[in-house]
Amino acid sequence: MPKKLEHIGIAVADLEASEKLFKKILGVDSYKREEVESEGVMTSFFLLGDVKIELLAATKPDSPIAKYIEKRGEGIHHLAFESENIEKELKEKESQGFPLINSEPKDGADNKSIAFLHPKSTNSVLIELCQDKF
Ligand code: ZN
Repeated sequence: MPKKLEHIGIAVADLEASEKLFKKILGVDSYKREEVESEGVMTSFFLLGDVKIELLAATKPDSPIAKYIEKRGEGIHHLAFESENIEKELKEKESQGFPLINSEPKDGADNKSIAFLHPKSTNSVLIELCQDKF
């Protein structure tokens, strides 16, 4: 089972404007930007307590984030729960009947292995499992 909420992913159209906005809301600066080229996304991370906010902006028009914003507009994109053993956890979730978007973990931002459960079985909430890479 996951240990804790690690971060909340938010889809944004204009990364720079949203960084300024979240700095106003949270009172802290983004501590890093990181591109995930394979996903066509630029991320920007804020840390508040021990939960992070991950802003996600598309770097190309066919990026999943661009498509998401086109369909649903900006807003909460996913919840990411930290796992101690992501491979095992994915197998467990699959055997519990959850359809997976990723049956194998892939590389995400912030030095993490990540995988998504399909939102059709999770009250339309996109759920990411993540684990620090060693
Ligand atoms: Zn994430």
